[in-house]
Amino acid sequence: MTRADAEALDAVDPLARFREAFDLPAGVIYLDGNSLGPLPRAAAAGVERAVRQEWGQGLITSWNAAGWIEAPQRLGGKVARLVGAGPNEVAVADSTSVNLFKLAAGALSLRPGRRTIVTETGNFPTDVYVLEGVCAMAGATLKALPPEQVLHAVDDDTAAVVLTHVHYKTARRWDMAAVTAAVQARGALMLWDLCHTAGAVACDLNGAGADLAVGCSYKYLNGGPGAPAFLFVAERHQGAIRSPLSGWMGHAEPFAFEDRYRPSSDIRAMLCGTPPILGLAALEAGLDLQLEADPRAVEAKGQSLCRLFIDLVERRCAGHGLALTGPREMERRGLHVSFAHPDAYALVQAMIARGVIGDFREPDIARFGFSPLYLSHAEVWDAAEILRDVLETRAYEAPGFRTRSAVT
Ligand SMILES: *Cc1c(COP(=O)(O)O)cnc(C)c1O
Repeated sequence: MTRADAEALDAVDPLARFREAFDLPAGVIYLDGNSLGPLPRAAAAGVERAVRQEWGQGLITSWNAAGWIEAPQRLGGKVARLVGAGPNEVAVADSTSVNLFKLAAGALSLRPGRRTIVTETGNFPTDVYVLEGVCAMAGATLKALPPEQVLHAVDDDTAAVVLTHVHYKTARRWDMAAVTAAVQARGALMLWDLCHTAGAVACDLNGAGADLAVGCSYKYLNGGPGAPAFLFVAERHQGAIRSPLSGWMGHAEPFAFEDRYRPSSDIRAMLCGTPPILGLAALEAGLDLQLEADPRAVEAKGQSLCRLFIDLVERRCAGHGLALTGPREMERRGLHVSFAHPDAYALVQAMIARGVIGDFREPDIARFGFSPLYLSHAEVWDAAEILRDVLETRAYEAPGFRTRSAVT
């Protein structure tokens, strides 16, 4: 493999035209779109329109005239197409953490005789923290176990199993259909976290028979920092599930201003308060862009980029102590690649100083995300060469690269 071979792959890339849709800084190879996706040009225009026309000129009439009030369901319908859900099964609201709280408590409401939630340790911490909080409030038990023990722990007291489809560090991907079936065979509900799935790998929630899901929209969906997250409730559960955050936007008739809460019978029951319109305006541009791309081409290109990076690093950076974490087979992983290295933090900092932005994850992981819409194989080649140079020249040993900042 040479750089010319990488360029040849780019020459036949069916997604190449999407690069221009992003406002990426010159001279940067951005391998952190799995943590914060870059700015779609249309998002800047969409926010400008929402601010100046809809808010500035339309004022309060924009709740109806500009479709603000339906935005959580409208955007939910768009996310649904990316995750294999029906058009009325997804809403966009709140953060992933808050949505997980609502749906985990909702799962307990759907399985009243069962008092345990089972989840995996080593997950992105908010998932376990939120489940601890839900269980403490509901008087339920949380069993957080290593991934290989999770399915063995599901029994007739288990209300729900909560797993992250693609692991944030190792990129290991659960078999969604098989795990969902195994959990449901024991009468429990399956709640998937799709933070590193949506916009990255093919996902068919209804094909897998999933019950519930949450996910993030500022990663591969490029919705912008703190963009509102999404939640999925399979249609069969919508009449019965109860959100613990029974706010007025979840009421059957919010504008009836009744004294007592009456839940909506559809996905709106999972909404709580007034939707964040400016954040939704940015996200809608990211979603519209993602929907223009063929999801099979997205996953295929992402896997091609990951495979190339793994291959180049293992061949050209051999002997420098980097060890791939997580599975090697593309069907069993997501679109980021993590290498363990004793100096991972300094390595990532030294690469950032040379324009290759990846990130560090405790305790020793250098993580690189390969978002298919804007990256090229040539950039992957260049990033691997910069890594090789940083290792060979020991540039990462410079003292400035070891000082930790608050956000890594
Ligand atoms: C990114 C991520 C989150 C983010 O949660 P927020 O509420 O948006 O902070 C949650 N879970 C997983 C698995 C993630 O990767």
